[in-house]
Amino acid sequence: MSSLIERDRATLWHPYAPASATLPLWEVEAADGVALRLRDEQGHTHEVLDAMSSWWSMIHGYRNPVMDAAISRQLSRFSHVMFGGLTHQPAVELAESLLAMAPGEPGRRLERVFLADSGSISVEVALKMAVQFQTASGRPKWQRFLTIRGGYHGDTFAAMGVCDPVDGMHSSFPGLLARNVFAPRPPAAATANATASAAAIAEWREEVEELAKQHSNELAAIIVEPTLQGAGGMFVYPPECMRILRDIADHHGLLLILDEIATGFGRTGELFAGQHADVVPDILCVGKALTGGYLTLAATLCTGEVARTVSAGEAGALLHGPTFMANPLACAAANASLGILATGAWREDVARVGAGLAAGLAPALKLDAVTDVRTLGAVGVIELRDAVDIAAVTRAAVERGVWVRPFRNLVYAMPPYISSATEVGVMASAMVAAVEETSEQRVAA
Ligand SMILES: *Cc1c(COP(=O)(O)O)cnc(C)c1O
Repeated sequence: MSSLIERDRATLWHPYAPASATLPLWEVEAADGVALRLRDEQGHTHEVLDAMSSWWSMIHGYRNPVMDAAISRQLSRFSHVMFGGLTHQPAVELAESLLAMAPGEPGRRLERVFLADSGSISVEVALKMAVQFQTASGRPKWQRFLTIRGGYHGDTFAAMGVCDPVDGMHSSFPGLLARNVFAPRPPAAATANATASAAAIAEWREEVEELAKQHSNELAAIIVEPTLQGAGGMFVYPPECMRILRDIADHHGLLLILDEIATGFGRTGELFAGQHADVVPDILCVGKALTGGYLTLAATLCTGEVARTVSAGEAGALLHGPTFMANPLACAAANASLGILATGAWREDVARVGAGLAAGLAPALKLDAVTDVRTLGAVGVIELRDAVDIAAVTRAAVERGVWVRPFRNLVYAMPPYISSATEVGVMASAMVAAVEETSEQRVAA
């Protein structure tokens, strides 16, 4: 009888992995609060704190009683119905809550919600909305997108097409990806090691303005992750750069799409990261933490103007409709998560987690292998000179009771909001120790 891990290795794909994956794999036996109980390939169990919130999503912790009860309640009513021609309470309540909490300003209010089944799909829908908006506005040739380098917007084709053209997957699908317009990355925000100068921001502004001018009669929208680029490199840029993008979009009649799939719901210290510069988008994507990490769901919000224009276009409709659109269980989970956020406790939680990460990760700056340490909200990042040995760092952290999943040259954490100061301290010191141990090994080898 082979072990579960062996059976997995014989049958499954894992994210961005070869079929013959030899990277270490752990079986999750239990999850509760901030903790996972893992079983390794030798059959040993490890209690670890999840510093990843299951990829930014599990903000209120595993088996949260409020979340569990909300889903059970909906399960006892019905778990799914089609959304064509039918509606239900969890979806309507979710749309109302999202619109009530979304940023807005006079003349620019988010008034309409499309419920998608994953973040990538919500980005596809946002891009479609923008193109349909421009077509319906008499500009059918405006079909390309301007974005900044270093971004990540998902793994479906249109979304991949606005991911970073070098670090994204463009080279593997050359004929299939739309040729979009890539502006340089903004200068880095002030961190322990670097400060963005006004001159650097002004120079960046000129470059983006020039690109937008050059392509203004073929662009539908500007799409960016606000303030923090996540999977594209955990890069923090000055919030005023979003304001610059908002102005450029307005100047040329382009829409501004903010992809808040990673940053939304408080992770960066504001409910939405665009709010660091009071920037209101025409289209907003949310996902990941939307359901408190319980079920897959994302949403694309748009202004009343976008919704009305798209609907009045020749197509007469927004051309998208997933089978599992507005899944009632997922909507019930999202409503429960938004209810927990509505207490406002997240603000204090995010500040506590952020302070713990800042203090706990600071010692990493003394390591030779480390080039930068930065935090924003409840996100903490150690950037290394060289690519991380993912297996070695993950193992070293697990041995110290912490779950992390580094990528490229980054070891980072975005703990659940419910993490205590002590737990964040354990996460941070395990990360620093894992980096220290694995980079020493490198020097030795
Ligand atoms: C994760 C992520 C996506 C994709 O979401 P999926 O649910 O994985 O499809 C898109 N944009 C950003 C900013 C993300 O972090």
